[in-house]
Amino acid sequence: MTDITPNIPHEVEGKVALVTGAASGIGKAIALLLHARGAMVVAEDLNPGVEDLARPGLVPLIADISEDGAAEQAVSLAVERFGRLDILVNNAGIIINKLVVDMTREDWERIQAVNATAAFLHCREAVKAMMPNKSGTIVNIASYASYFAFPTIAAYTASKGALAQLTRTLALEAIEHGIRVNAIGVGDVVTNILDDVVEDGPGFLAKHGEAAPIGRAAQPQEIAEIVAFLASDRASFMVGSVVMADGGMTVTAG
Ligand code: NAD
Repeated sequence: MTDITPNIPHEVEGKVALVTGAASGIGKAIALLLHARGAMVVAEDLNPGVEDLARPGLVPLIADISEDGAAEQAVSLAVERFGRLDILVNNAGIIINKLVVDMTREDWERIQAVNATAAFLHCREAVKAMMPNKSGTIVNIASYASYFAFPTIAAYTASKGALAQLTRTLALEAIEHGIRVNAIGVGDVVTNILDDVVEDGPGFLAKHGEAAPIGRAAQPQEIAEIVAFLASDRASFMVGSVVMADGGMTVTAG
């Protein structure tokens, strides 16, 4: 890897990717960018709107990622349709806005089931499928909330902390099989993730992002670009990293 490669326009060309939460927001941008760069993609989401992404080389899968058997089904679909699995992006995530004293056990467990447990199950099945190939990459969509606390979102911050630690630990186990596992600590991105918890979700995120040193929230494509890099051989020395992509939010002192 000592030669300098001036241009790798199709860094994921010919790879097979599975992206969760691909019907909207960051996941949709990831699925479309990987596909545009030549990957074959299985796009998994419980929202039937994911079917709108269907095109040659991009197969939608309507599924709740937290259900028993969902991870096995999604990985099997990638292998059946495209012959192998090279890239897993655990992107699907949900949030709840409640003080700990008001949160039910069911509230807590639903957030962990989607954000942490389903990611673990998809990692497990993906690694099993990748091991015979002695290659593969996993990118987990974590958050600056993996490290930082915000009142009313304890279930979410705990789940994203778990995802960051899953990333680091699995990275140590998987690298001996040639599989790299990394995550992105995403800052504010203008999506609909807050639609069930605030009146104008995208507007709230756009406004909140102005507090970052960069002065704005991100667009989903800006996160998708980092996924494409981490999933490619260009990131060949990255193992167990949680790369911050937050406009400087977590490095500023004031
Ligand atoms: P989004 O709501 O636009 O997209 C999330 C997608 O996940 C939706 O299409 C939804 O249908 C799907 N999903 C939810 N639960 C599912 C389930 N059980 N099974 C299958 N699909 C399911 O939100 P987004 O902002 O694009 O979020 C993507 C990821 O980015 C999440 O993990 C989120 O925590 C993370 N993130 C977002 C921000 C932000 O500011 N938007 C910040 C940090 C991290």
